[in-house]
Amino acid sequence: DAQPRDIASMIERRNRLLGPGYQLFYTDPIELTHAEGVHLYASDGTEYLDAYNNVAQIGHCHPRVVEAVSRQLANLNTNTRYLQEPLLDLAEQLLAHFPPALDRVTLTCTGSEANDLATRIAHHHTGSSGIIVTANAYHGVTSSVAAYSPSLGAGERPGPNVRTIAAPNPARFADEAELIAAVRSDVRRAADDLVRTGHGVSACLIDTVLSSDGVFTHPTGVLRALAEEVRSYGAVMIADEVQAGFGRTGDDWWGFARHGFVPDIVTMGKPMGNGYPVAAVVLRAEVGQGFESAVRYFNTFGGSTAAAAAARAVIGVIEEEDLIERSRLMGASLGDALRDLARDTDLIGAVRGVGMFYGVELSSEGGPVGGARMARKVVDRMRRAGVLISASGPHGNVLKIRPPLTFEQTHVDRLVEALAAGLKAAEPSTREV
Ligand code: PMP
Repeated sequence: DAQPRDIASMIERRNRLLGPGYQLFYTDPIELTHAEGVHLYASDGTEYLDAYNNVAQIGHCHPRVVEAVSRQLANLNTNTRYLQEPLLDLAEQLLAHFPPALDRVTLTCTGSEANDLATRIAHHHTGSSGIIVTANAYHGVTSSVAAYSPSLGAGERPGPNVRTIAAPNPARFADEAELIAAVRSDVRRAADDLVRTGHGVSACLIDTVLSSDGVFTHPTGVLRALAEEVRSYGAVMIADEVQAGFGRTGDDWWGFARHGFVPDIVTMGKPMGNGYPVAAVVLRAEVGQGFESAVRYFNTFGGSTAAAAAARAVIGVIEEEDLIERSRLMGASLGDALRDLARDTDLIGAVRGVGMFYGVELSSEGGPVGGARMARKVVDRMRRAGVLISASGPHGNVLKIRPPLTFEQTHVDRLVEALAAGLKAAEPSTREV
């Protein structure tokens, strides 16, 4: 039975022990006790529909992952300096879902480490150090990666070797051709400046759903055009699939595929172990040669036996439960429902997304700042109605919806119903109750 909990004193204790840097979700934070499938359960007994957590890609506590990891932990869990067949099985199973040109894997523990390694590899391959990212990109936490994660804001200034390009926002252009021309010229401006200042161009690192930029999934030719420009400078394309990967977009395993280009390096993490820490860099072997011959890379926990077991279970479930197709079908239904909702209200400026990843941009007379205020209200109202989402984008006015790939129609219905009610409550004319 649920025990009454003193949430306020837990928050006070947390602030005292962990500090204010540890942010909590929601105005009324939730204490979670357990999870199953698409649901999270709180200490007060409330069941929440999780439409935000993109780590639990195949549903929380998936029995197959729990079983595989538990069994491995009880038997052997060590590092990559021993011969272990599960690691090789994982590498083969993972590479089978990539174009043949991408034929090498290095395992890490986090997406940040994967991006850090990817840019080191690009640096050794090209002999240049310049990096191009989008204006509100997020790629991770290490000092090198934070230097090319401009979404961290003024406290973490981009490195001298970093240039940004605008996220491709179709609303700003008359048509696709104009948008693509603008992206091409933006890349050339950034690259020319890196050349002029002596850094040269090493890589363009791009989140293939442009999540922190506000979720920009269309038109799909954009990233191919971007890659062409980047490569014309001798630089490599790194696709950050930490958010987009493992079937989230519903049309392929990876977000780059829908844009019709093959990156030189791909990074992935979050959903790879469905909660067990495992991440990876996949690349063309040839691109890794310079780094391999110059640097000894060993990651103690990266690719541990248990991590390999977790990732193999996740890939197996996505394959066998046909979750990419499911993501496509449920995503189409979710997209339709969101666009229907947008027709009924002036508060929604744009609905963008694909598969199980949607961004709903809120607009108001107060501009993006007003939109962000509204987004916070909607997110809190939905949390009170038992549905969890969040907001992102440079201004925080884009509702971010990212459910597990195992969502069913009833879950889509519940999500959209809660969103409709949340929007109604957030309307400027409605008084908050
Ligand atoms: N890249 C992207 C696109 C991400 O969203 C994140 C995490 N939010 C990372 C990299 C970093 O991954 P991690 O937190 O596992 O280091």
